[in-house]
Amino acid sequence: MSAHDHGHDHDHGDHHHDNHFTDMEARVKALETVLTEKGLIDLAAIDAIVETYETKIGPRNGARVVAKAWVDPDFAEWLKRDATAAIASLGYTGRQGEHMRAVFNTADTHNLVVCTLCSCYPWSVLGLPPVWYKAPPYRSRAVIDPRGVLAEFGLTLSEDRRIRVWDSTAELRYLVVPERPAGTDGLSEEELADLVTRDSMIGTGLALSPETQR
Ligand code: FE
Repeated sequence: MSAHDHGHDHDHGDHHHDNHFTDMEARVKALETVLTEKGLIDLAAIDAIVETYETKIGPRNGARVVAKAWVDPDFAEWLKRDATAAIASLGYTGRQGEHMRAVFNTADTHNLVVCTLCSCYPWSVLGLPPVWYKAPPYRSRAVIDPRGVLAEFGLTLSEDRRIRVWDSTAELRYLVVPERPAGTDGLSEEELADLVTRDSMIGTGLALSPETQR
């Protein structure tokens, strides 16, 4: 895990025994030191935020939103119309989730989310972004060659399925609602949520089917 992944560097105990930092980690460390010395940031507050997004807020939030949309047509309709409010009704609000839009996969259309400019991501429902999401290859190629990118994620869609790419911004974040897998009629909402992977809500994967679920 790089410092970039956390948004800031902190000790994990078993990493960095040799005090050797990567370039990015060293820069983050230096910035942190300067800002702390000038009294501009409170390290404890930053640690609390990182801790929250690492352990309390993650893709499970988004999975619950998707599972509810699968079982509750009224909620799905609300999610389509006003994702921010529908998601907030489940208690998922806050940083980088203030303006949400849910895009629904259908038999005709597959949705894929990227931030070509930087790394905008719906923290309130997915937690912190994976490293590849912030990496230049994904950010540039998701737009130019979405089908090729999906193939690299092991997802090959039929040629007649349209791929729609959504470019996130600081103002608007997207949540992909994957299609409900076949053979899930008898499952509870909680069991359905177990099938909703992080990648399926970014669009680089599909929801798991009950047989393939790990
Ligand atoms: Fe961004």
